[in-house]
Amino acid sequence: MDNHFLCTLAEQFGTPLYVYDEATIVAQYQRLKSAFGKQDVKLHYALKALNNVNILRVLRNQGAGLDAVSIEEVHLGLRAGFDAKEIMYTPNGVAFSEIAKAVELGVMINIDNLSVLEQFGAAYGGKVPVCVRLNPHIVAGGHAHISVGHIDSKFGISIHQLRHISRIVEHYRMRIVGLHMHTGSDIIDADVFLQGADLLYDAAESFPDLQFMDFGSGFKVAYKEGDIVTPIEDIGAKIATSFKTFCKRYGRDLELWFEPGKFLVSESGKLLVSVNVVKQTTSTVFVGVDSGQNHLIRPMFYNAYHHITNCSNANGQQKLYSVVGYICETDTFGYDRLIPEVREKDVLAIHNAGAYGFSMSNQYNARLRPAEVLVRGDSAYLIRKREELEDIYRNEIEIPELR
Ligand SMILES: *Cc1c(COP(=O)(O)O)cnc(C)c1O
Repeated sequence: MDNHFLCTLAEQFGTPLYVYDEATIVAQYQRLKSAFGKQDVKLHYALKALNNVNILRVLRNQGAGLDAVSIEEVHLGLRAGFDAKEIMYTPNGVAFSEIAKAVELGVMINIDNLSVLEQFGAAYGGKVPVCVRLNPHIVAGGHAHISVGHIDSKFGISIHQLRHISRIVEHYRMRIVGLHMHTGSDIIDADVFLQGADLLYDAAESFPDLQFMDFGSGFKVAYKEGDIVTPIEDIGAKIATSFKTFCKRYGRDLELWFEPGKFLVSESGKLLVSVNVVKQTTSTVFVGVDSGQNHLIRPMFYNAYHHITNCSNANGQQKLYSVVGYICETDTFGYDRLIPEVREKDVLAIHNAGAYGFSMSNQYNARLRPAEVLVRGDSAYLIRKREELEDIYRNEIEIPELR
C-alpha cells in the first residue's frame, strides 16, 4: 500500500480510517505455518486482536481456527462461519454459566482455574473433553500489562498444582484432551517457548487422553526499524524437533497448536489520520490529528512505539514533530519523530495498527469510532462504516422527570 494509494483511500472513505491489507495477513499466516517445516501446526487466531467478520473470514479461508476469550467472541466466530469445533474458548474469571453456554455451543473449553475444573468435572464428568491452561511461571512479555505467565499472574493453573489437577480429573473421570500455556505478548527469546514447552511435555505424563498441545502466542513483530522480533523460524524449527521427540516419548502423535493474534494482523493495519493543526510551542512542534487514544490506545496504554509517516508529502524535508491526538488529556502518538514536513490537511499513516487498534477503541470524549477498510488486490472494501452521533447515545434512557 503506497503513499499515493493511502491518500486515495483517505479521500474516498474519509479519516480517521483503519485500513487492512489482506495480502499481509495471508503472508504472515503462511510464514508462521511454514516455520515448523514438516511438522503440521494448527493456528487458532486470537480474535481479540481484530475481530471484523471479514478479517475472520480471511483467516478462515487460510484454514485457521479461532481462540476466543469471551462468549461474545465465540458468537462472532460462529457468525463468521467457523465450525464450533474450530473454536477454542479460553476464559479467565468468567461465571460458570458462561462456560456452560460455550459447552452448549460445542466449542473446546480451556480451563484455567482449579475451582472451575472441579465445577466442570461435577457438571460434565467425562462427557465433555476439555483443555487445561497451565501457568509455567516463565517471565515473558514486553510490558507488565501483557506478561501473563509470572508468579503473580491471574492466568492459568500453576504447574506446581499438577497433583491437585490430577486428583480432580481422576475423581470426576474427566477427559483432558489438551494442555495449554500462554505466557504473554512480545516474547523475543526462543528459549522462553522451549522452556515452557519442556514443562508442558513433562506435565503431559499425567494426562493419558491428550490430543493436542497449545503453546499460546506472544510472537512480537517489528514496530520500528531494527526492533528485535520473535525469531519465528528459529522457534518453529526448535519446537518442531522437541515436539517430535515428545510425541515419541508420549507414545502417540499429538496436534501442535498456537494462537497468534498480533503476529497475524498487526502489520496489515494502518490508521490513517488527517492533520488538523500544526502548532509551534516554546518546546516543540505539535502535529494535532483527527484521532487520538480513543482510536489507538497502545501508545498511551503500553508506551508502544508506532511508526508514523506522511502520505501526502513523502519526499518532503524531514523535521522533528510530536504527533498528538485530539482527546482532552495527554494523548500522544509519538514524541520527537522525524517526519517529512507536515502541513495542515496532510494525511499521516500510523503503522502496525492492525492488532489491538480498532478492537480497543472507545467513545471517550463522545468521539465516533473510525471506519474500517479491507484492501484485497486492487480493490478496497468498506468493512465497517464510521459511527454516527446516534451510536453514542443509542442505549441511553431519558428519565421523563428530568426532561
Ligand atoms: C491475547 C491472547 C493471545 C494472542 O496474543 P498475541 O500477543 O496477540 O499473539 C493468545 N492466547 C490467549 C489466551 C490470549 O489471551
